Amino acid sequence: MDESGVRFPVGPQMQSKKFQRRIEDFGCENCGAKVKGNGYTDHCPVCLWGKHVDVNPGDRAAGCGGMMRPVNVFKKDGRYMIEYVCVNCRYKFRVKAAADDNFEAIIKISRKIQK
Ligand SMILES: [Zn+2]
Ligand SMILES: [Zn+2]
Repeated sequence: MDESGVRFPVGPQMQSKKFQRRIEDFGCENCGAKVKGNGYTDHCPVCLWGKHVDVNPGDRAAGCGGMMRPVNVFKKDGRYMIEYVCVNCRYKFRVKAAADDNFEAIIKISRKIQK
């Protein structure tokens, strides 16, 4: 299925000071996938790697820019959570897995942990 035409409606009324939502597309620096940002995208849905840019989700205030390696996957309230460690500054970070994340990649990480 081609979802390239899917756009999320955005308007100035969606802006909030508490939660900064930014719509941005980015190229994954780990696997090279082109990721279509929806404003909540904080990691690559293909390889699950992220980038250390946020202090709080979406604020882009970290100023580190190191790659965030997915090191752990666990289930919380029926949802997968991914735990990251920044390869640059070793900052630890956990996020909810997104609905369009590559499930195989999630399983791969959880298998690695069990060994
Ligand atoms: Zn990737
Ligand atoms: Zn970092």
